[in-house]
Amino acid sequence: MQDCLFCKIINREIPSKIVFEDDEVLAFHDIDPKAPTHILIIPKRHLATLNDLDQEDAALVGRLQVTAAKLAKELGFAENGYRVVMNCNEDGGQTVWHIHMHLLAGRALTWPPG
Ligand code: 5GP
Ligand code: ZN
Repeated sequence: MQDCLFCKIINREIPSKIVFEDDEVLAFHDIDPKAPTHILIIPKRHLATLNDLDQEDAALVGRLQVTAAKLAKELGFAENGYRVVMNCNEDGGQTVWHIHMHLLAGRALTWPPG
């Protein structure tokens, strides 16, 4: 998608601090971290919101979650704990229209979220 911020990050048109990449997934540090570690995990295929997911996308979304667990172990916060969040549309707090999983760690996170 030409005007999508995260597609531009995938294509290296906008720089980011990448922590993981494979054929379907990219993970990079959030530019405005809400926790000591705040990583965004995205599919390389453009999907604007969670509402665009089909049954055939189940494995792709699973890969986002598996990537989060792998990064948590590699970066050393798997045992202490972490949170993954995916925001959808306005009430969910979504601001970038390319689906992404937030991986937040490094402090005790409060519940419920705001
Ligand atoms: P959302 O609010 O859509 O769930 O999350 C979008 C996230 O993207 C926010 O946490 C925001 O800080 C992050 N973000 C926005 N623009 C950029 C950018 O140019 N680079 C990076 N790395 N993160 C960004
Ligand atoms: Zn996109």
